[in-house]
Amino acid sequence: MNGFVPGDSGLNRRRFVAACAGLAAAAVVGRPSRALAMPRSAGPADPALIDDLVAANRILADQGVVDGYGHVSVRHDRSPDRFLIARSIAPELVTADDIVELDLDCNPVDDRGQRLYLERFIHGEIYKARPDVRSVVHHHSPAILPFAITGVPLRPVYHMSAFIAAGVPVFEIRDAGGVTDMLVRTPELGRALAQTLGDKPALLMRGHGAVVVGRSLPESVGRSVYLQLNARLQAEAIALGGTPTYLSQEEAARVLALPGGYERAWQLWKRKVAAR
Ligand code: MN
Repeated sequence: MNGFVPGDSGLNRRRFVAACAGLAAAAVVGRPSRALAMPRSAGPADPALIDDLVAANRILADQGVVDGYGHVSVRHDRSPDRFLIARSIAPELVTADDIVELDLDCNPVDDRGQRLYLERFIHGEIYKARPDVRSVVHHHSPAILPFAITGVPLRPVYHMSAFIAAGVPVFEIRDAGGVTDMLVRTPELGRALAQTLGDKPALLMRGHGAVVVGRSLPESVGRSVYLQLNARLQAEAIALGGTPTYLSQEEAARVLALPGGYERAWQLWKRKVAAR
């Protein structure tokens, strides 16, 4: 894809040999570690993509979608089998130096012992299941939580969140893992979550938060911002006591056929966080 040719540098060969040696050692002690599965890098990512990923972290914080927690990732531009995400750090503090490359099993290509997000399996397993997805956001926006715990479905209140018309399923972690600490901290839980997401643009996690996907960073970030706004507006509309009228499937389809997506907002948000 994209003319990517795997590199065969001496460094990679040394890594491979080291990995094999480690694997042999693991067979002896029978206790595999993260480093043993160290995959090969797809090569340096486009610096503009790294810039956008850093911006996405800061935009999501600026818009109140994430706080000290939550994360955003993007598929590597050189290989669909790799993705980029920050090491375990608050999104607002992310710089280019914090970005790590992981394979879809969520192993880092350069394991320097950096702490990684426990819930990175949300990203890896969605990238495996959804070739169309190029970016994933996970957050705990308080605005969406009421819809994650009541069974009241999120529905599109206005054109800005027309994508919600596709449906936003709720992931019940008890169905997949019984009693847990609520974190999607294993590949199995990640797979179950990806299965619940299906072909949808977003998913709510009961007692936890949400996952939003997109074909690009502007799309996953834009959808995250407007999912949150829609949740707030829908709750207000319901609280008013009338009978809200939501966008119909046909109206939503026409909105989504418009060109541009969230591009104009993305440019504005990027400018705002860059000015800090
Ligand atoms: Mn979480």
